[in-house]
Amino acid sequence: MSNNYGIFINGSFIERDDKLLVKNKYSGETFATVSKASKEDVLKAIEISHKTFKDFSKTPAYKRANILEKTSSLIIENTKLLSETLASEAGKPIKFAKGEVARAAETFKFASEEAKRISGETIPLDASSSGEKRKGYYQRYPIGVVGAITPFNFPLNLVAHKVAPAIAAGNTIVLKPASSTPVSSLILANLLTQAGLPNGVLNVVVGSGSTVGDIIVEHPLVKKITFTGSAEVGESIIRKAGIKKVTLELGNNSAVIVDESADLQKAVKACTVAAFANSGQVCISLQRLFVHEKVYDSFLDEFIKSTKSLKVGDPLLDDTDIGPMIDIKEAERAENWIKEAVDKGAKILVGGGREAAILHPTILSDVDDNMRVCREEIFAPVVSVFKYSSFNEAVERANNTDYGLQAGVFTKDLEKTFYAIDNIDVGGVIINDSSMYRADHMPYGGNKRSGLGREGVKYAIEEMTNIRMVVFNLS
Ligand code: NAP
Repeated sequence: MSNNYGIFINGSFIERDDKLLVKNKYSGETFATVSKASKEDVLKAIEISHKTFKDFSKTPAYKRANILEKTSSLIIENTKLLSETLASEAGKPIKFAKGEVARAAETFKFASEEAKRISGETIPLDASSSGEKRKGYYQRYPIGVVGAITPFNFPLNLVAHKVAPAIAAGNTIVLKPASSTPVSSLILANLLTQAGLPNGVLNVVVGSGSTVGDIIVEHPLVKKITFTGSAEVGESIIRKAGIKKVTLELGNNSAVIVDESADLQKAVKACTVAAFANSGQVCISLQRLFVHEKVYDSFLDEFIKSTKSLKVGDPLLDDTDIGPMIDIKEAERAENWIKEAVDKGAKILVGGGREAAILHPTILSDVDDNMRVCREEIFAPVVSVFKYSSFNEAVERANNTDYGLQAGVFTKDLEKTFYAIDNIDVGGVIINDSSMYRADHMPYGGNKRSGLGREGVKYAIEEMTNIRMVVFNLS
């Protein structure tokens, strides 16, 4: 494919005069042009998806599984193209971009396996006095047209987390990728076609959230919205969606607790990746780091050393650890939050500098819980370090947030481990690793302002199917 992409409707790439210029986030040069969907295009995509659903929902599981498995192989075969695309359109260092491609292939592989396992359950109706001489079971049915809206930070794997389970379940999809990173999803659409996906099952419409996104969210033929992005947009979506199922995968300001019994070397290594990978633009990036007073100084020395060793630069180079943020505006916003914190008494231990869209990995101390760098999701390579004396206090402070996606705890103490598991109000507690651990088949999603519902292929399929109960009256 050239670097000129159309929107993808009914199996064809369609050119439009209205173009989006996708920039290489490091050089600032235009890296691809992508046609923008008009209102009519979006309505057409929804209509085609609706029509295609009639046949595709009847496609046997083994055929859906074969398409997904073949797509997984094609993703691996196209690792170079996809990872270079991710490095260019998202500014993601190539070593992490390759990791994302491998994960997307695995997500499709999981979906191919789960497609064969969508099943129901028999219900012992005679447990009720009204159920004597009755038998019953339930089965899951595909929900219909799935509207998928995705963010910029994992432009391939987060699309995979919506498209692959939807296909596994027998649904059709209208996808709106993030406007800053639409190219990898259009390449994926091409690979799915090569893998034998029938025309009209996946339609990709590129354009702004407030136009393309709103049409998808509000349309009555779209039966399910699966959204990953910010809490603000998630909240506006749920208000507009009306009576349809909605899954929201939103933000977080993740906490990690390093207990006095922790393996400090392991903790330093994991925390460095969790705070700064993808320039902190990961929903489970480490933002608030609580370290026990007895190990605070030794941990911090090593953490600072490890942070200083990170190589900042061109994402296309193999040894780059930190690339640009998604745009200069976002880097300036984070820089302003740092300045605001420093004005109120915070100290910069490392970093704080910015060159265009690159914000240097930054560690802050003396941060107050009410400063924006701590209270809100910073979504930048910035971590605040806090000293604590009691483990229960650290758990309480980890919970002192509107968000609740994942948290990490480094400890060898069993009692503290289970205290953390039982008391941190999040969708995932990661023991002896950072908040950033995720495997693509585990249930994944947040409590509180971090969202509604769960992804992770099997769980996404549950959210994208309806239960139909069947009752036999044998009397
Ligand atoms: P965003 O600004 O909320 O955008 C996400 C998507 O929503 C984009 O496709 C965007 O389109 C679209 N959108 C914007 N306004 C819309 C509207 N009114 N109606 C419908 N769609 C609309 O988020 P982002 O900056 O791309 O991503 C960062 C956020 O995503 C962070 O908060 C991060 O924590 C969260 N995130 C969560 C997870 C998770 O699994 N929980 C994973 C990754 C990221 P445009 O691009 O055209 O504006």
